[in-house]
Amino acid sequence: MIPVNRPHIYESDKKLLNQYVNAGWISSESPSIKDFELGLAKRFKRDFAVAVSSGTAALEIAFKIIGIGPGDEVIMPTFTIISCAQAVTKLGGTPVYVDSNIDDFNLKVEDVERLITKKTKAILAVHIYGLPCRIDFLEKIARKYSIFLIEDSAETIGGDLNGQPCGSFGDISIMSFYANKHISTGEGGAILTNSEYFTQQSKYFRNLCFSAERRFLHSDVGWNYRMTGLQAALGLGQLENLEYTLSRKQRIAAIYDELFSEIDSFQLPLKTTEYAENCYWVYPILLDPNSRYDAIDVISILNTRGIESRPFFYPLHLQPVFGLDSKNYNLQNSERLAKYGLYLPSGVGNTDEEIIAAAESLIDILNGV
Ligand SMILES: *Cc1c(COP(=O)(O)O)cnc(C)c1O
Repeated sequence: MIPVNRPHIYESDKKLLNQYVNAGWISSESPSIKDFELGLAKRFKRDFAVAVSSGTAALEIAFKIIGIGPGDEVIMPTFTIISCAQAVTKLGGTPVYVDSNIDDFNLKVEDVERLITKKTKAILAVHIYGLPCRIDFLEKIARKYSIFLIEDSAETIGGDLNGQPCGSFGDISIMSFYANKHISTGEGGAILTNSEYFTQQSKYFRNLCFSAERRFLHSDVGWNYRMTGLQAALGLGQLENLEYTLSRKQRIAAIYDELFSEIDSFQLPLKTTEYAENCYWVYPILLDPNSRYDAIDVISILNTRGIESRPFFYPLHLQPVFGLDSKNYNLQNSERLAKYGLYLPSGVGNTDEEIIAAAESLIDILNGV
């Protein structure tokens, strides 16, 4: 079976991991945590970074510390991971969904401003599949209405927009270091910000809201969202190797692009836009709605041929967990993306041979071979 993601652990990652472990450091007290946080802040041009246990945890802390609660609305794309919406609903807030573009899968920034009400407290900008959304436009809107802007850069680690690194936009940015992200610690995440207050609050909420005056005295409800020292040691290595990871992702995309150059039955990911280069978190394709297969058909046929792939996100406004009435929503692009989109093997550890085999299988399937 060719896996959809094969992570790559660099030799230098292992060396760093050994170094900290041999010195007796494994928990969140490890100096690797501070080292990793400093490294993240420096690489992504932020004043501060706070390492946490996942990207989901980072989102939950971000919405908590900007004060989201009952009655508050947060505008976000419907085409994203469930973590984005649940981080808001768990606090009693309400996600307000925006449709997405067919070409780059990112939220339609032109639809955002008319969704702003007196209850709007924040916009969540999510960069999808490696291509940044127009967060520069969202910054202007957030400033105009004095609302918070949160950036989810889990899928654009190492990407930039007009030369400015993803992870440095808005009031707070979050990242995920799950095994398929550009920096991987197995599980993990981070909050990045220029605010000393948000940094202190993030550390407070990630660690059970221990009070500064007296140990084991608590005035708020927090989480144990601490990252382990083992993860941070791995992360330090992954951060050092980020430029190689990015170049490997470009290479994988170039192989697919070339093998698919004659194809007209599906849409390839955009290589560049006027403002950004794709950093290819994954290699996503969108089948033609007139194609005889939808994404789930193609995924299951690929699977019988030994190739793992994944469907696109399922829109948040249609998630059973939220029990919304679909009749109240007209977010058709996101529904089309969910039906016809899939992504192919593209892990840093996937070999050229695996990429070629996946591409050739897909071409055969669509040619009815
Ligand atoms: C991966 C991802 C997350 C969640 O990260 P976890 O570390 O898996 O919790 C959040 N947002 C986006 C856009 C992601 O792709």
